[in-house]
Amino acid sequence: MLSQRELFFSHLAQTSFEPLALEIVEASGVCLKDKNGKTYIDLISGISVSNIGHRHPKVVEAIRLQTDKYLHLMVYGEYIQSPQVLLASKIASLLPETLSNVFFVNSGSEANDGALKLARKYTGRSEILSCVNAYHGSTFGALSAIGCADYKKWFAPLVPGFSNIRFGNMEDISLITDKTAAVLIEPVQGEAGVRTASKEYWTALQEQCKATGTLIIADEVQTGFGRTGKMFGFEFAGFTPDIITLAKGMGGGMPIGAFVASKEMMNCLANNPILSHITTFGGHPVSAAAALACINVITEEHLTDDISRKSEIIVSFLKDIKGVKEIRAAGFLIAVEFESFEINKKIIDTAITNGVIGDWFLFCDNSLRIAPPLNITDDELSTALNIIKKSIQSIL
Ligand code: PMP
Repeated sequence: MLSQRELFFSHLAQTSFEPLALEIVEASGVCLKDKNGKTYIDLISGISVSNIGHRHPKVVEAIRLQTDKYLHLMVYGEYIQSPQVLLASKIASLLPETLSNVFFVNSGSEANDGALKLARKYTGRSEILSCVNAYHGSTFGALSAIGCADYKKWFAPLVPGFSNIRFGNMEDISLITDKTAAVLIEPVQGEAGVRTASKEYWTALQEQCKATGTLIIADEVQTGFGRTGKMFGFEFAGFTPDIITLAKGMGGGMPIGAFVASKEMMNCLANNPILSHITTFGGHPVSAAAALACINVITEEHLTDDISRKSEIIVSFLKDIKGVKEIRAAGFLIAVEFESFEINKKIIDTAITNGVIGDWFLFCDNSLRIAPPLNITDDELSTALNIIKKSIQSIL
């Protein structure tokens, strides 16, 4: 009989020829366990998804309760489904008054595609600006907005009307004009290797968008739900977007995404033509119930309160280790930069062998990604950091 490993390589589409291929049989809290019983601390939260750890009991309970009632009933938007209603109300309660209307989808890419369509339809303009080295997703719309030509050129022609400005660059703000429908921007650039912009930048960006009637779409897919130590990344950065996009950490480990705007803006997807944007599974009731439980854990347990302290523990522990060139941190989204990808990769592989999961960034491969679950304890963090330190020292 073929092993799971052999079947994985035969029958699952590969995204690289060197997948980690860890055979995980169980996950709980910050830990994953493989088929040999070895445990790993997940220091990347499955790429900013497991913000409250794996299989949180309140999320599991919410899923169980919902499966006793109903699964899929009807395409999104037709029936009043309690998990969606409660979740949308909860999300709106956490946001500025203008961000009160939620369109549920299934992923971050879809959330961005929906938001981009909404911006074009609402403004009647076609130009979309996004940032150099931004990652927004792999569907055609989101891909068109990605700020890395080498990554996307293979799929040309992409959606017309997209171009890039430099993130945090004051000069490029003048490229936003009355032809621009929207600027799609991450409050903290994730895959670019954790890049922040100055307060002045966000103020100037907002002013220019206001002056030209351009919408700001904040891609909160990675920064949302406590990752930066604020509930949303735009609060960390200090600006107010017109639309936000959500996914990843929202579902407590279940697939769900959303874009959020004002009711007046969102109404333009309901007519001319009717059903301007639709999805079958968006806001699946089981995912929505899980997401509500997850967000309640973040708010009720005040998980964001302790992030800047814990982030500082990570930075001060790692910053003086030989070979660490720079550390960039936005709460619990942290990049530890080394000389090269080769060195970084060896450190990541060694850390995994030693029981800690880290990763690199898509557009910044010389930096180690650290993005732990928000509720990691000081003891777990200390264990993980000592393993990372040992792994760095064994390579350099
Ligand atoms: N936007 C950002 C900022 C992301 O980090 C990601 C995923 N890494 C996406 C969008 C795409 O999300 P998904 O993979 O769920 O489509």
